[in-house]
Amino acid sequence: MKNKFTILGCGSSLGSPWITNYNGKLRKSSKNLRTRCCAHIQKGNLSVLIDTSPDIKSQFLKNKIKNLDSIIYTHEHADQTAGIFEMRPFFWKNKTKIPIYGSRRTIKALKKTYRFCFQEEQGYKPIMKANIINKKFSIRKNNNVLSIKAFDVTHGLIKSTGYVIDKIGYISDCNKVPKQKLKYLKSLNYLILDCLKIDKHPSHFNFDEAINLINLVKPKKAILTNLHTDLDYFKLKKILPKNIIPAYDGLNFNY
Ligand SMILES: [Zn+2]
Repeated sequence: MKNKFTILGCGSSLGSPWITNYNGKLRKSSKNLRTRCCAHIQKGNLSVLIDTSPDIKSQFLKNKIKNLDSIIYTHEHADQTAGIFEMRPFFWKNKTKIPIYGSRRTIKALKKTYRFCFQEEQGYKPIMKANIINKKFSIRKNNNVLSIKAFDVTHGLIKSTGYVIDKIGYISDCNKVPKQKLKYLKSLNYLILDCLKIDKHPSHFNFDEAINLINLVKPKKAILTNLHTDLDYFKLKKILPKNIIPAYDGLNFNY
């Protein structure tokens, strides 16, 4: 089986369209139908998820993902975590608690907000085992190993975690990568990067900031994600150079 990375969702916190049917400047097209940000990695028989968006169930069904071994969290915001409840069938299927990984602050926040996942409540068994990450760690199943580097990036008033997994960088929520962390982004094959909107934003990269970072660290290919309703897929395609592509839900590549 080839190793495969899939962008399950590439929308901003409300997705597109919003629940009100607001679609901003987006042309009607499946490329602009965006669920909330998260991603999936299949390495041999090892299945690892980055974040549990509120859309996670439909994302798994659409992409025919039937197994799950571990979850990596970037941060605790609801658009990256609110689907955590949907993970119960994998606890039943694997007959073991689902290992989840995150920074000390993310794990603390998850345990507070989703207490039932980590300790028995009202007779319901906990379904997850929390692991606080180091700068480097790995997730393994049989001979399949994901080598992961983790580092703090600025996301408005909090720190979210940027990950480099097998030469693929994933930074979905970020408005600044501190200078001393840029070394993690050198010689990447792919960089999947937050690019919220055209205008500046206090907790996300805007278009110009995302492009500047990509030009600085020069991944072989960059994919823009966390896209808001002012960033139309087709308009982005027209203006971006070949090595930078706008994400769409379900975009995947083998590596
Ligand atoms: Zn966030």
